Amino acid sequence: MEFKAWFQCINPECDNRYELTDIVYRCRDCNELLEVQHDMDELKKRSAIEWKELFESRYRKNKWPYGSSVWGKKELVCPMVDNENIVSTYEGGTNLFWADRLGDQLGLDDLWVKQCGMAHSGSFKDLGMTILVSMVKQMMSQGKNIKAVACASTGDTSASLAAYCAVAGIPAIVFLPKDKVSLTQLIQPITHGVLTLSLDTDFDGCMKLVREVCQNDDIYLANSMNSLRIEGQKTISFELVQQFNWEVPDFVIVPGGNLGNVSAIGKGFQMFYDLGLIDKLPRLVCAQAERANPLYRSFKQDFKTFEPVQAQQTLASAIQIGDPVSIKKAIRALQAFDGIVEEATEGELANAASKANRTGLLCCPHTGVALAVLEKLVGRGVIKKKDKVVVISTANGLKFTDFLFKCHTDTIPGIESEYAFEAVEVPAKYEAVRDAIQEKLGA
Ligand SMILES: *Cc1c(COP(=O)(O)O)cnc(C)c1O
Ligand SMILES: [Zn+2]
Repeated sequence: MEFKAWFQCINPECDNRYELTDIVYRCRDCNELLEVQHDMDELKKRSAIEWKELFESRYRKNKWPYGSSVWGKKELVCPMVDNENIVSTYEGGTNLFWADRLGDQLGLDDLWVKQCGMAHSGSFKDLGMTILVSMVKQMMSQGKNIKAVACASTGDTSASLAAYCAVAGIPAIVFLPKDKVSLTQLIQPITHGVLTLSLDTDFDGCMKLVREVCQNDDIYLANSMNSLRIEGQKTISFELVQQFNWEVPDFVIVPGGNLGNVSAIGKGFQMFYDLGLIDKLPRLVCAQAERANPLYRSFKQDFKTFEPVQAQQTLASAIQIGDPVSIKKAIRALQAFDGIVEEATEGELANAASKANRTGLLCCPHTGVALAVLEKLVGRGVIKKKDKVVVISTANGLKFTDFLFKCHTDTIPGIESEYAFEAVEVPAKYEAVRDAIQEKLGA
């Protein structure tokens, strides 16, 4: 079987198509975003049961490249790249954590946290980056003149791009907003020897600059405006369904900034639905930081209008974005999935992360945003006790130790930490240690 995919303009009145090996990010006629479309008729020639068996036979096995949970779905994601050009770090297959104790506290029977941050570069961005960098390698092997790959980032896309380009030996350039990413995120591209530009602007400012730099075709744009990345990110939904033994959760909650991921998650479920692998769709929830909430504002007006905002500084730095690139795709997905957008304040996100950490998780601030939104929706009765709920944890808490430290030492200005807890300094003497233990255990 020969599976095909192409870029297609999302404007229904246009429908222009381009090859996946074309260097094109927006429609050349109407300037709309593009999305990858697949030859669904060809894919439907295999039955749902055959697809499930194929995916199960590959999942977390060792046959290159199919053990990666992204490439294990290659036919549905990026069929035409040659396996020898695939740049993979064995993506996906991340734990679906049963948040039993946290669920109990919130009054939920069936709460799960998808640990997407347990990834090569510590965030879920690896899922899309493996597709993009593999396609770059494919294009280079076909003689396309690409000198480097570039992205603007709030810290995770840059870390992922840098790692994958270093794996492949392809030069990369990352554009970061100065002092707005964590120390770990700043260090990641530097360790890989990638040109790291620290710019005195915010993410939206970096995005404008990188788009200018990528006007010339020899520097390839790796931002999620490039819809190759969405194809990889949509495997989050594939994987969730597979991990639940082909059952669909009732709610999926994901923090949103540039809004590529909420679109991607919708796209994944829709594709499984269209191929008959599932027979219902979940409700999608996009969680935004109150300080960078343009989608939330639009949702409040039934998506009738959309205005970009000037994003304010937020602890959830990876979603500090005021002018999201994938806005139209996100609205389309939310409308198709009976979607909800909710926001979280700085205090709410910090305390939601800290509360979850008490039950054994180690949450990044963005996961905190999603958890805070979960709590609000439970409080309002939108999410009910018996619902199967998945919170997408987007990055590893270890990338945000500064945030965790401040939360638990109650040193975030303007926020009262409900879970302050510090190391106890005691002299290295038995009596002092015993007293400290007695105080903690209340003996
Ligand atoms: C990129 C990112 C998000 C948001 O994804 P978008 O597609 O930009 O909406 C959320 N959390 C983390 C940790 C991220 O890196
Ligand atoms: Zn068009």
